[in-house]
Amino acid sequence: MITKKGINASPGVAIGPALVLDTEEYRIPHRTIDPALCALELRNLDAALAAARQEVAELRAAAAAKLGDKTAVIFAFHEQFIADPKLRESVAEQIERRHFTAAYAFGQFMKERQRVFRNVADPYLKERVRDLADLERRVLRHILGRTRENMTRLTEPVIIVANDITPSQAVSLDRGHILGFAINVGGQTSHTAIIARMLGIPAVVALGDITTDVSGSETLIVDGSNGIVVANPDGETIARYSTRQRDYQRFEDKLRSLRDVPAVTQDGVAVQLLANIEVPEEVPEALEYGAEGVGLFRTELLFLSSQRIPSEEQQYEAFRDVLRATAGKPVVIRTIDLGADKLAPLLGAPHEHNPALGLRSLRYCLMHLDLFKTHLRAILRASGEGDLRIMFPMISTLMELRQAKSTLHDVMEDLDEEGIPFRRDVPVGMMVETPAAALLARAFVREAAFLSIGTNDLTQYTLAVDRANARVAHLFSSHNPAVLKLISLAVRATQGRPVEVSLCGEMAGMPLYTQLLLGLGLRRLSMAPKEIPVIKRLVRATTLARCRAIARTVIRFDADRQVLNYLRDEYRNIEPEDDA
Ligand code: PEP
Ligand code: MG
Repeated sequence: MITKKGINASPGVAIGPALVLDTEEYRIPHRTIDPALCALELRNLDAALAAARQEVAELRAAAAAKLGDKTAVIFAFHEQFIADPKLRESVAEQIERRHFTAAYAFGQFMKERQRVFRNVADPYLKERVRDLADLERRVLRHILGRTRENMTRLTEPVIIVANDITPSQAVSLDRGHILGFAINVGGQTSHTAIIARMLGIPAVVALGDITTDVSGSETLIVDGSNGIVVANPDGETIARYSTRQRDYQRFEDKLRSLRDVPAVTQDGVAVQLLANIEVPEEVPEALEYGAEGVGLFRTELLFLSSQRIPSEEQQYEAFRDVLRATAGKPVVIRTIDLGADKLAPLLGAPHEHNPALGLRSLRYCLMHLDLFKTHLRAILRASGEGDLRIMFPMISTLMELRQAKSTLHDVMEDLDEEGIPFRRDVPVGMMVETPAAALLARAFVREAAFLSIGTNDLTQYTLAVDRANARVAHLFSSHNPAVLKLISLAVRATQGRPVEVSLCGEMAGMPLYTQLLLGLGLRRLSMAPKEIPVIKRLVRATTLARCRAIARTVIRFDADRQVLNYLRDEYRNIEPEDDA
């Protein structure tokens, strides 16, 4: 049994067999076999080892011919490793004694060797861990042959273990069969975490080497609420986590009953709780959780999930569907925010050294007006269907906002000329997710109908901490006083003006921050649908007076530790009424 601590990325508990994407790219379907089939499994193993050995020998010869003997040495290591009689002996013993399948026994053996190699001081051996993973894949491919399972059509529920999940992978995965995620890299606001929360699937990220610690089909527990993963748990641990899983489910069911009660503080201040969504299909569930509208529709998933850039018609249909499903509730459509960790290969963007600061998001759109105008046409055409609002992301200068608005007006003129109806008075707002936008918020509110504070990027850019990099995840804190001051600036810039402000970064769905955000003046929070009931419960338990006192205290702190400790105390002291 191995227990690993990572970062809690999506709450809940999952228990099930692992599917290790990086090394297998397919699932080991069975762990054990009928003892009568041992001989067959041994033959399977021998054939796979022989085939892999042959392949490696050919690769070595080809490498020697093309690149010289030095490069060929690397394959000599592979060859020796597979040919080692001890390997065959150990794996065969597991098949005969424990009735493991050849694939499972071999996978276990290779994971163990990788663990050993990783922990030795010799840098040469450390480097060989990758070679072992490569060999593991090669042999497993032969063992499993045609029985490999397609990731997008799984036949059994699994826990996905991977280095990272790209958004396009996430949407192509067979959701119905995914119990949880255990991921090597990332942080609480990385897109893998956001997607896991969107799908309502428990996830732990920043686990380091979970892909090499776990072999396919091994039982895993993912405790997404506490950021813990247990591999190969014993019976007692499984029983303990099964109880937690049931408790969590009961808590969830209770929270759902809050759907129809208003989000109003004890002293009568109403707070609007909205949903962040990525695909139209999420709307019914968002309403089920009590969303009063869509505060952020991340449209880029429409682009990331298809092989081709979606046509105007396809985009229009997606926007129309969201508006129809929300039946008159507000829907903020954010124009495509591609780039950095949301890179769509289909745009053919060249490699950038610093993609988070590169030609991404609105900057990309303003340089690719055909794509942008088609997108805006699709949005405007859907505007008659409900309460649609348009939001531009990643703005750092007034000029960008003006250019984006002027492109929108050009598109409106085109539609006019073509006699295509749309709502001319559609509100046009912007995200505040760069320090520049927050610092100049007073200027922006003269030209934007609403602001939405994106604390994921705002934190990343203010603290110069990559939001998706597990190695600096300990430095990523949205409660850093520098970030809080920028949030406060943006909120205050809207006061006394007919400009709405909301917050749609991950902070909005974290109960620890709710009172502080209300105290800073926010009355609109947009979050993953599943988080709405938890936040509503807190809103109903507090008073604005208390929230303001909290904000007044917090804003005087200089260190994020002080803020965190204080907020934790305040959170512990609040007792949500149990009307849930
Ligand atoms: C943000 O940056 O806070 C945000 C809401 O946008 P995204 O997470 O999609 O970058
Ligand atoms: Mg953002």
